[in-house]
Amino acid sequence: MRARDALLTLCFAGAGAYGAWTWWEQRQPEPAPRQDPAQPAFAAPDLPEVSGHRRDMAQVELKKGPAQEPRGAPIELVRKNRQAIDALEAGDYVRAIELFEACHAALPADRVFAENLAEALARKANHDFDSADDEERAQAQSAMRRAHELAPARKDIESRLDQMERLAKSEAGFWKDSSEHFDLSYDGDRDDLLGGAFLITPLLERAYQQYGELFDTWPVEKGRPKIRVVLYRKEGFHDATGIGHWAGGLFDGTVRVPVENIQKEKNDLERVLRHEIAHAFISSSGGAGVPGWLNEGLAQYLEYESLPARAQRVQNARERLRGKPLLPLADLQKSLAEIGDEEQLQTAYSEGLALVEWIDRNFGERVPYQMVAGCKQQKSAADTFEKRTGQSLESVLSDLALALER
Ligand SMILES: [Zn+2]
Repeated sequence: MRARDALLTLCFAGAGAYGAWTWWEQRQPEPAPRQDPAQPAFAAPDLPEVSGHRRDMAQVELKKGPAQEPRGAPIELVRKNRQAIDALEAGDYVRAIELFEACHAALPADRVFAENLAEALARKANHDFDSADDEERAQAQSAMRRAHELAPARKDIESRLDQMERLAKSEAGFWKDSSEHFDLSYDGDRDDLLGGAFLITPLLERAYQQYGELFDTWPVEKGRPKIRVVLYRKEGFHDATGIGHWAGGLFDGTVRVPVENIQKEKNDLERVLRHEIAHAFISSSGGAGVPGWLNEGLAQYLEYESLPARAQRVQNARERLRGKPLLPLADLQKSLAEIGDEEQLQTAYSEGLALVEWIDRNFGERVPYQMVAGCKQQKSAADTFEKRTGQSLESVLSDLALALER
C-alpha cells in the first residue's frame, strides 16, 4: 500500500495553519505587581500559563486518524481520491474538496471518502478562519461543522469547531478598524478603546515595516489577508481563549491581546503587540517547523524597538539563567508552551532570548532570520546555522553557558 493512498492523517500543525502556533505570553513587567491566583509563582515576562486545564483552548491540534484505503471502490474513484490527496498536499483546498466531494457523492456510505472530505474541509476552514473577511470566517465555521458531521469520531475536529465558535462569539459586536496591513477588532463600548485605536494602528504598521525588512517577507502582500488583531477586555480574553486573566497575548493565526485601558497600558501593550506580530512573521517566513526556542527567543528579542530597553530585556534573561544548567536544544523544539514545569518554562524562554541575542551579536544579525526562513525549506535551524557560520549550534550553546558563568 502506498502511503498516499491511505486516509489522510496529517495534523493541522503540520499544515502550518494552527496547532503549532500557540504561544502566549505573560504581560506583567517583572516582578508582577498583581497576584492572580492563577499566576505562576515566578514573575518573568512572556511565560505561558502552566496550569494544564487552561491550555486546551490554544492547543487544539488535529490528531492522526487510522490509515485506511477505500475498499472495493471503483477504480475511477480511487484515482480521483489520489488526485484529491495530491491537491490537498499542494495546499489547493478548493480542488481537493471538489474531488473528495465527488467521491463522497458517488459512495456516501464509504467512511474513508467521508473522512477524507472532512479532513480537507477542516484544513480549509482552519486556514480561512483567520481571514479578515467576516463572511469567509462564517463559511469556515460552517465547513468545520460539516467536517464534524462527516467525521464525528474526530475529537480534534470537534474541539476545533467548539473553539472556533467560542472565538467567533467572543468577537461578535466588536468595533472594527483597519489599516494597510492590519484588521483591528476591539470592544467598542469603551471610549478608551475608541480613542486608543488611533494609537495602535501606527505602531502596528511600524512593526510591519520593520519586521518585513528583517524577515524579508511581507505576509500581507500579493492578495494575502491582513493580519487580524483582536483586543479584548481581560475577562473577554479569558472567556474566548481559556487563558488566565494575567496572560499578555496569544497568536493563534490571529493576534489576541487583553487590555483594560489602552492609554494607561500603552507601553506594555506595544511590547505585547510587537511580540505577537513577530510570531505572525515567524509563521509566515518559517512555517510550522520553527523550533520553540527560536520562535520565542526572536519574538522576545523584537519586543522593544529601543535598543537600551532591548539590552535590559536580554540582561534580565541572562540573570535568570545564571547558576542554572541550560536546557538541551532537543527539549526546546516544540512549542515552549508545552513545557509543564514552571521553572523549566522560565528557563526555556530566557534561554531562547539569550541564545538569539548571542547569535545576533557573534554571528551577525541576519542569522536568526535565515534560520527561520530555512525551516520553510525543511532545513532545520541547526543546519542553517552551521551552514552560515561553520559552527554547530550545540557548541554555541556551550559557549553561551560558559559566558553566563563569568
Ligand atoms: Zn511568544
